[in-house]
Amino acid sequence: MEQMEWGRPTRAVIDLEAVRHNVRKTKDWIGPETELIAVVKADGYGHGAVRTAEAALGAGATMLAVATPEEAVELREAGLEAEILLLGAAPLAFVKVAAERNIILTADSLRWMEAAAGLGQDLSAPLKVHLKVDTGMGRIGVRSQEELLGAWRTARKAGFVMDGVFTHFAAADEAETGLQMRQKERFAGMVGMLPERPRLVHAANSAASYMHPDCRFDAVRLGISMYGVPASEHVGRNMPFALKPALMLESRLTHVKKIRRGDTVSYGATYTATDDEWIGTLPIGYADGLLRGLGGQDVLIGGERVPIVGRICMDQCMVRLPRAMEPGEPAVLIGRQGHEEITADEWARRLGTIPYEVLVTLSKRIPRVYRDRDWER
Ligand SMILES: *Cc1c(COP(=O)(O)O)cnc(C)c1O
Repeated sequence: MEQMEWGRPTRAVIDLEAVRHNVRKTKDWIGPETELIAVVKADGYGHGAVRTAEAALGAGATMLAVATPEEAVELREAGLEAEILLLGAAPLAFVKVAAERNIILTADSLRWMEAAAGLGQDLSAPLKVHLKVDTGMGRIGVRSQEELLGAWRTARKAGFVMDGVFTHFAAADEAETGLQMRQKERFAGMVGMLPERPRLVHAANSAASYMHPDCRFDAVRLGISMYGVPASEHVGRNMPFALKPALMLESRLTHVKKIRRGDTVSYGATYTATDDEWIGTLPIGYADGLLRGLGGQDVLIGGERVPIVGRICMDQCMVRLPRAMEPGEPAVLIGRQGHEEITADEWARRLGTIPYEVLVTLSKRIPRVYRDRDWER
């Protein structure tokens, strides 16, 4: 959604230069031999898939990855011509479109490969496929040597282009590395059994790209870090360079009032003023992704941390101000103001979740505004 001049003053500002910085620094870190696949699923983790994909490609990514057919087609419709890998198990009904539009599909099983091969005759171009190996994630992928080789042979017979083989780590972001090492070994063993090595062997997500250089193979799949957010606190503490968060969530006070000691605020009257207090209202609520569980979370206003008080409503929330302020005063919900900073991770800790979920929960109702060096769009 575009932000209208007459619209609500709540917006997410996406700094595309920060995305380019994160991609460029990661590319430097992994080296010229390793390709960087920019993961822009879930609308670019809430940042906008098309704009962040363009930024990543401009900074050294050579390929894009998404989770659903709709997401892949959105990128093609926007005119992006880079290779796109669909990471999830692809619906068979999408095979024809994928071949036509040069979208690489993931084969998650022998069963899928056989079914797709059955459609082989109707395709306008050879289908490109990456074969997924389940080495311990337990989600999708072939699990045995027989299934691996069966799927490979089936694909070759059907005339598919076997462009890649990959796996996914379950615990690359943790300090404990036992499972990571077992998965890596299992994967290397499976790849070694293939009759030929495909163009791209890949395994690493953001966390593994930084924490486990031996797991990078030919390409890394960079998601959360390209948006400037560490995958976990463990990864954040051990990063080889500083990531730049790309998203700021901003709003402005729409209403300010003084309430008396004993007055209550919001649904359920869960908050009672203990003194005369200045209360501000912000036009953002749980329908925007400011979930009700974020009651008590700080917001930055006037360079200071001020708490959300009372229950968060669908479209608005209230904050306790240190003094009288004018409506129109800027507020930062995620990002920096003055010397203070609130990160997506701070929200995640309050909610008992991970920053990934915080970012993708910011709803479509929040306009995304792009900042690109000196000009804004
Ligand atoms: C989402 C996803 C990624 C990216 O993971 P990050 O932790 O965000 O870097 C990589 N690979 C697969 C298969 C994924 O589903």
